[in-house]
Amino acid sequence: MTAESSTPFKEQRLKILRCPSLMYNYSGIPPFGLATITAMLTQHGYQIEQDDLDAKCAADELFPRHRWGKQFPAKDLMLDIQRVRRYWEGGDDPAVDDIIEEVLSYTELDDIDVVLLSCIEGDDAAAIMALCIGKHIRDTMNKMVILGGEAFPHMMPIKSELAYFYENGCFDYYIQGYGEVPLLNLFEALESDGVLDNVNGLVYFPEDGDSIENRPLFTRPEVIPDFDGLPMHLYYRFPDDWGNQATEDAGTEEILVLPVKLNFCCPMNCAFCISSGDAFTKVTWMKPDVVANAIKGLVEKYDTRYFMFADDLFNISRRFAEQMADAFIRHDLDIMWSDCAYLRNLDLPLLQKIRKSGAIRLVWGVESTSPKMQKLIGKGIKMDEAQQILKWSHQAGIYNSVEIIAGLPHETDEDIEHTIEFLHRNRPYIDQMYLNPFSLITGSRMEKMPEKYGITNVQPVATIFQRNPDEVYSWIQRYTFDEVDGLPWKSKIRQIEESYRRLHQVQLELNLGGHDLHFLFHRFNKFKHKHLVSDFQTSREHQGFDYFGRDGQRGHSPAKSVVSNRIN
Ligand code: SF4
Repeated sequence: MTAESSTPFKEQRLKILRCPSLMYNYSGIPPFGLATITAMLTQHGYQIEQDDLDAKCAADELFPRHRWGKQFPAKDLMLDIQRVRRYWEGGDDPAVDDIIEEVLSYTELDDIDVVLLSCIEGDDAAAIMALCIGKHIRDTMNKMVILGGEAFPHMMPIKSELAYFYENGCFDYYIQGYGEVPLLNLFEALESDGVLDNVNGLVYFPEDGDSIENRPLFTRPEVIPDFDGLPMHLYYRFPDDWGNQATEDAGTEEILVLPVKLNFCCPMNCAFCISSGDAFTKVTWMKPDVVANAIKGLVEKYDTRYFMFADDLFNISRRFAEQMADAFIRHDLDIMWSDCAYLRNLDLPLLQKIRKSGAIRLVWGVESTSPKMQKLIGKGIKMDEAQQILKWSHQAGIYNSVEIIAGLPHETDEDIEHTIEFLHRNRPYIDQMYLNPFSLITGSRMEKMPEKYGITNVQPVATIFQRNPDEVYSWIQRYTFDEVDGLPWKSKIRQIEESYRRLHQVQLELNLGGHDLHFLFHRFNKFKHKHLVSDFQTSREHQGFDYFGRDGQRGHSPAKSVVSNRIN
């Protein structure tokens, strides 16, 4: 029952909405979280519908489909914090109402009793819009609003002023972490004794006391996503058909990429990564035959053979990887898939089997090849073995992407050059490099035990809601820190950017920008062999993502480069 209703939740109509992003480019991939929440609540007898306002706004070009680094009126409006504060506090603002009504015009809410709003992770402007949507729905439609989607604590601008947003009526309940189980528990608790202590991830505000924050849940139930109700026709995409580049091949067909998860949480403990935190210790996985059958059902239902496995690692263990690949082959799935993977305990026969099971691309975490950096982060890989696995993976016909981090604590020029030398030496086997500037991640081992990693004086950076004019506000950096016996923050932030620029230059020189996933699936489908995919474009520089360059800065990153003191 809602605050006003005594009708049991199972007799009410629920609707979960993905709110529009204002920062990230439209991915063209259905939202995994909505689909698993819908599956879970449906299994438990709730009447839930789902809709994707991000896809609908993109399809109709209400907001640009390629938004990275772009300013446009709706984003400018949301980033006018003083103005939206007046709106949240009850002031009239027809311009805000107009844009929210336009967004909501893409979905039907008349017969809905409870609206679940899913924010886009890490997109501050979109979080502001989600709060405006919540306020508008509560004020004008008198429905219960539950806000979530900011699953990871690192990317939660809303949480910095949760009590303020609650008091101003932007939502009834806020859930952090994964929402499937907490939503069930919340509905059950509200219908029974009203005691909310056991609703994981819920932050709530008892009338007579301070806010209470329950421990979030980062384990997902092992459910197969249910995409019914999403605007599936909007996800069939031509490679790059909404991008800056013309579609290279007139024979291209539209493809649909579906997200699925095979396992949950990561058994490794890389100190910089949120998965190393104590909230992510319980590793679970789907049974191979169950998941193979489910994928077969999705292939038939949606007429697609392209899957993005959204795992931390495909090979959480060698045994799991082998069993999953065997199941895909045994069930004759004939799919193509991409996933992340760990550079240990793999050999050529297993990688060939993984390729045969449909793997076309694996994303390998390397981060830095410097022995000093490897020791600091506790990645647990050995560079000789890593290099050999990349070669075998290449030999098996798998497209290799590697993740690199620029500016880890205590990184020196020598450490950076070590990684660059590795990239040069292994360029024949590496097809793409994802470059990430270091940031201290909430909940990671480094953030929980900074001194152990040579970091001290950790301070939260101003949020989007409370900018401090003396401080660099950054979408990437959520903390400042000093290196123990090393660089103070003002120098460290420069070092991170300089390291990034050096590695980015190498990414461009070695042509390691790579291809996007839709394009990879399309080329593998058409030409079967890796070299006909990876060699296809003469220049792939445009794919190299630049956080500190022109596009990375406008609107959500430092107003100025801390290195060059100018916008490129
Ligand atoms: S970086 Fe990758 S391998 Fe390491 S803990 Fe995170 S998800 Fe696991």
